[in-house]
Amino acid sequence: MNSELGIVPDSSARAASGPAPGRLRSASARAMRRPGIDYDGVPGSLREGVVEPGDSEYLAVSSNYLRGGAPGIVLRPETPGQVADALAFARRHTHLPLGVRSAGHGVSGRSTNDGGVVIDVGRMNRIEVLDRDRRLIRIGPGATWKQVAAALDPYGWALGSGDYGGVGVGGLATAGGIGLLGRAHGLTIDHLRAVDLVLADGSQARASAEENPELFWAVRGAGANFGVVTAFEFEVYDVAEVGWAKLTLVSDDIEKSLLRFGEVATGAPRDTTVFLVTGRPRQGRSIVQLFAIVDSPDPAVVAERLTPFLDLGALAQQEVFVTRYRDIMGQAHDVGPDGHQGRGEPVSRSAFLPAITPEYARDTAELLRSGRVHFFELRPMGGAIADVPAGETAFAHRTPAFQVTAMGADQVDLNARWDALADHFDGLYLSFDTDRRPERLDEAFPPPVLERLRELKRRYDPHNLFRDNFNIDPRTGHEAVGAGRTGRNS
Ligand SMILES: Cc1cc2nc3c(=O)[nH]c(=O)nc-3n(C[C@H](O)[C@H](O)[C@H](O)COP(=O)(O)OP(=O)(O)OC[C@H]3O[C@@H](n4cnc5c(N)ncnc54)[C@H](O)[C@@H]3O)c2cc1C
Repeated sequence: MNSELGIVPDSSARAASGPAPGRLRSASARAMRRPGIDYDGVPGSLREGVVEPGDSEYLAVSSNYLRGGAPGIVLRPETPGQVADALAFARRHTHLPLGVRSAGHGVSGRSTNDGGVVIDVGRMNRIEVLDRDRRLIRIGPGATWKQVAAALDPYGWALGSGDYGGVGVGGLATAGGIGLLGRAHGLTIDHLRAVDLVLADGSQARASAEENPELFWAVRGAGANFGVVTAFEFEVYDVAEVGWAKLTLVSDDIEKSLLRFGEVATGAPRDTTVFLVTGRPRQGRSIVQLFAIVDSPDPAVVAERLTPFLDLGALAQQEVFVTRYRDIMGQAHDVGPDGHQGRGEPVSRSAFLPAITPEYARDTAELLRSGRVHFFELRPMGGAIADVPAGETAFAHRTPAFQVTAMGADQVDLNARWDALADHFDGLYLSFDTDRRPERLDEAFPPPVLERLRELKRRYDPHNLFRDNFNIDPRTGHEAVGAGRTGRNS
């Protein structure tokens, strides 16, 4: 024993039956361990990658992109078998929070916590082509969309994701994926053909239209409740060069600009998807940023599609290129060895919007003028997103014209302001909402969808292991769901 140096072998290593030796941890490192965690009981297959609060890598794995965290232990499995081992460990720690992390860009999905367990599958990030003729690819959950776009580009393929290439496959492809190719090609989940997952009991399952079809339905919109996805198989599509634009306009009348955006964005051909971002007006003026993809390599088409959006204000800056989807996703920063640097808690609300009516534009302009929202985004839907029947995936909100997100600094204040807009909304996209009041679940899933998900949750996760992201509690009865609010936040 080398206890004079203050270093003792991790006793889990002494007890190891597997090949991994376990790390040496100093007494001071061990003193930083959090209560309620059986550190010495970490399965042998995971000992090499495990990170504890006293370890030098700890700060690099404790927070995510938007959120600070201080988990008690981070397990980093690299194979489905190791994920099963991690879940066995998590099942012995249900008194603590459990976070599942792929690339750490969760907003609703916490993927970190204070004193709990995190299962980080970020190292499972392989991207491979399974069948070139069918354009079938297989991706690990830890890959980022930037990496996916770069891997597909040499084949002339793409797979629409979101607007930021740093986001992970695991979180986005279990929720929906409303992105800049959305109107042209649909949601990311619309191209999913199969997933491999490890279920709450540690068993490995495959879900597709043929195998476990109910689970496959559930994973496409409510995946975080059903298991840890260890591989996604997608059928991707040909995408040549596309038109890409970042336009900055100055609006003297944000109410009028929002209304005009509603008309132009919904009237645009489906090859055109334009996201609008704005914030608090200053001295009566709003900076309106538009991020656009036109799925055409023809500069004349790109210019024609974008010109109507110039009605929204005075053009202050423009960047318009014909480029590759890879290069658009490639603008995201890489996460360095120091990991994510999120601090505190993001404060965000989300909704689906059937239409931008004059009343909605008026009320939203007032919200923006309150100065309590620093980030506001409208994402047009429709097009190929609406081609998919509502019953086909657990993501059931196929008909709204827009998805809308607002971020503030104070959850209670933002809730009050957002709830006041509820009559304009019809449901919410579960990736962008940090409000934890239970009625959010009823907005994310229409009543028959929620009921079907709850039945499946009883079958696949009866003890509610996966509960950190829009938790569908299997123990709640139908009557309680019915008693909650449905659809609207009235
Ligand atoms: C800057 C930014 C831009 C974004 N843009 C878009 C956008 O344009 N369109 C869009 O649709 N969304 C967008 N999002 C939302 C994003 O899709 C979700 O936050 C998503 O969950 C992030 O995935 P991740 O793997 O990076 O996150 P993580 O933080 O790793 O995970 C988030 C949650 O997803 C679940 N999860 C993660 N991995 C798995 C897995 N392997 N199996 C099962 N469940 C898992 C867990 O519940 C976890 O808490 C954006 C988010 C950010 C921060």
